[in-house]
Amino acid sequence: MKLIRFGNEGDESPGLQLEDGTRIDATGFGMDWDGAFFADPANMDSLKAWAETNASSAPKVSNDTRLAPCVASPGKMICIGLNYSDHAEEAGMPIPEEPIVFFKATSAICGPNDPVKIPRDSQKTDWEVELAFVIGKRANYVTEADALDHVAGYLLHNDYSERAYQLEMGGQWVKGKSCDTFAPIGPFVATPDELDDVNNLGMWLKVNGETKQSGNSGTMIFNIPQLVSYLSNFMSLMPGDIISTGTPPGVGMGFNPPQFMKEGDVVELGIDGLGESRQEAVNYAS
Ligand code: ZN
Repeated sequence: MKLIRFGNEGDESPGLQLEDGTRIDATGFGMDWDGAFFADPANMDSLKAWAETNASSAPKVSNDTRLAPCVASPGKMICIGLNYSDHAEEAGMPIPEEPIVFFKATSAICGPNDPVKIPRDSQKTDWEVELAFVIGKRANYVTEADALDHVAGYLLHNDYSERAYQLEMGGQWVKGKSCDTFAPIGPFVATPDELDDVNNLGMWLKVNGETKQSGNSGTMIFNIPQLVSYLSNFMSLMPGDIISTGTPPGVGMGFNPPQFMKEGDVVELGIDGLGESRQEAVNYAS
């Protein structure tokens, strides 16, 4: 299944994207796609049964309706840094021996096609196409072998980053990762059965039609079971939490000279099986 959410900010509803691309309103199912929903795998089974009965009669969601963040109210968003060896190289940083872990404020989360707001006075706003996943059952001290039992689904994420805030102003990366609209997620959460092999997904990102990033999830340094197991040693991974697994090469700061975003730029990105998203850059004030 492909779980979407739609509607304007403050008035968002759950929906589904069907095999043929049709989007339907799933309000009739009675739950939103939040932690309570993801906590119990039985909810996914019930949703599937609901869809089989109701998909044809449920209200359609028109293509011009805004897509909202495909996970409702995640408790936290954890990101992994430099998780592709070739990206670590372009960033001029050593290949990490343990996962680099940082947080992104959940207030940065927005819909997949919402405009990205370049922060006030920002000179170094940058893009990062990433494979993210959402936690199902709560995870504490899980083994790599059991890790995927705690993953409810996968999604596309653009981990927007302000490099000066992230790298030149001291302290933690969180400052350069958390600006409003710096985490467009979706278009949908794909349940694991939707993907043939999560370790072999092509991923790409274009700016103004020009390809900047082109990679494959198979070249991650730490794979998803390793990340779930590792993180669960330090904190509870709660239902609905989102974890983003790092970006392949081709970010703006990796070019010589570096390329950063300006108002009017259009960023498009996608991952095999997880759809595409598009953000147009606007200045913060507008
Ligand atoms: Zn990232």
